[in-house]
Amino acid sequence: MVATTLKTPHTGDYHQPTGLFINNEFVEGVDKKTFEVINPTDESVITSVHEATEKDVDLAVSAARKAFEGSWRTETPENRGRLLVKLADLFERDIDTLAAIESLDNGKAITMAKGDVGMAAGCLRYYGGWADKIEGKVVDTTPDTFNYIRKEPIGVCGQIIPWNFPILMWAWKIGPAVAAGNTVVIKTAEQTPLSALYAAKLIKEAGFPPGVINVISGFGKIAGAAIASHMNIDKVAFTGSTLVGRQIMKAAASSNLKKVTLELGGKSPNIVFDDADIDNAISWVNFGIFFNHGQCCCAGSRIYVQEGIYDKFIERFKERALKNKVDDPFQADTFQGPQISQLQFDRIMGYIKHGTEEGAKLEVGGKRKGDRGFFIEPTIFSGVTEDMKISQEEIFGPVCSISKFKTKEDAIKVGNNTTYGLAAAVHTSNLNTAIEVSHALRAGTVWVNTYNTLHHQLPFGGFKESGIGRELGEAALDNYTQTKTVSIRLGDALFG
Ligand code: ADP
Repeated sequence: MVATTLKTPHTGDYHQPTGLFINNEFVEGVDKKTFEVINPTDESVITSVHEATEKDVDLAVSAARKAFEGSWRTETPENRGRLLVKLADLFERDIDTLAAIESLDNGKAITMAKGDVGMAAGCLRYYGGWADKIEGKVVDTTPDTFNYIRKEPIGVCGQIIPWNFPILMWAWKIGPAVAAGNTVVIKTAEQTPLSALYAAKLIKEAGFPPGVINVISGFGKIAGAAIASHMNIDKVAFTGSTLVGRQIMKAAASSNLKKVTLELGGKSPNIVFDDADIDNAISWVNFGIFFNHGQCCCAGSRIYVQEGIYDKFIERFKERALKNKVDDPFQADTFQGPQISQLQFDRIMGYIKHGTEEGAKLEVGGKRKGDRGFFIEPTIFSGVTEDMKISQEEIFGPVCSISKFKTKEDAIKVGNNTTYGLAAAVHTSNLNTAIEVSHALRAGTVWVNTYNTLHHQLPFGGFKESGIGRELGEAALDNYTQTKTVSIRLGDALFG
């Protein structure tokens, strides 16, 4: 059995593949192992999917290698682009089903899930457009030499993605890799394999040749580790925790020195100046931390408010946070669904306990919501000092800390007081402050008077321990191409 019939409140019955997608076919794992997929909303078992072990990773890599050498690396850029655009169209055709699968499997609110699928389609189409615009150049050196520089695909790419944006991360990874002429083996997170398997069906329907995109479900320590250390994978791209990112890099270094790109954790500062439009700022600060239940690597979890509006800000922000509807993800007006798993739930509750014990003031939230599913109330701590654990460590849940600052210089100092550097934001009506602080913050993305507004045309990635390389935009193509110099001698032999 490599498929089953599942049901969601929004789709009724639908066809859900459960096998490993290798060579354009759904297959069982070599060892015939399966694992359960849990619904975070009610903790029930949704279904079981096939688990990839090292042997399945080998098979998927062989398929990807054959596709790369056999046809894909020489496929016309126009056709590569056409297939990606077709895949984007199929995502849009099936947006309701894909979004419902995300809500079922990940617990994200259905309106947000639809946003994710729409953005995934946008990303695939964007890279479809890039496929025939990846260009080299001619470099003149001496009159008797003709030199040109090509951007060539890297080869077989292993891609490991997390559970917080299952289908969006899938598109972010596959789009640039495939546009540039690589083939891929992508492993989804063990918590959320379902939407990617449904999307795998669409790969075949779009007409991709077998082996170009292989999608496997499995555990990090087994299938993920096998990808990171595989001798026949040319590049590994990973999104997830900094802890695992380090392991991936070590595995790449001690195997075949495959190229590595990492998009890791964050502890992003969200800085609000006295002169900010306070309603606007509160709305973006709320969205910055509580969107996707706080499960965003770029979540604005450290909120710094200038002293003149500090008290007013806290009161108004509390009111705003209490209006976020935390409920069943399939209800149209739900803003926040459950956390992904018992493990994450326990971690987050542990941080909340720590915050209270360390002396931060719990302004709102802090408790489980309901008695079934992994729901946590939006939680705000104030009076947080820089040495507290909740100010330093990534919580990855609906928990934020607020602290007061005096001057612009103070704001920059505390904003940069982290080992991470993924994102940051500044709220102010003063253009000079906006630009000065944006340039001083050591982060890959800085938002001004907004938050979490990612777009596939704009590069995204980390300074410091938040990662290596960039996703999205033209920049992502640099991670999926390698530069070749061809130098042709035009004149006579130089040495007789
Ligand atoms: P989280 O802690 O948020 O679950 P992880 O970094 O553990 O994030 O997981 C992100 C992705 O990395 C998942 O697909 C997971 O299976 C994978 N992963 C976890 N551990 C490893 C590992 N040792 N090697 C390779 N991949 C891993």
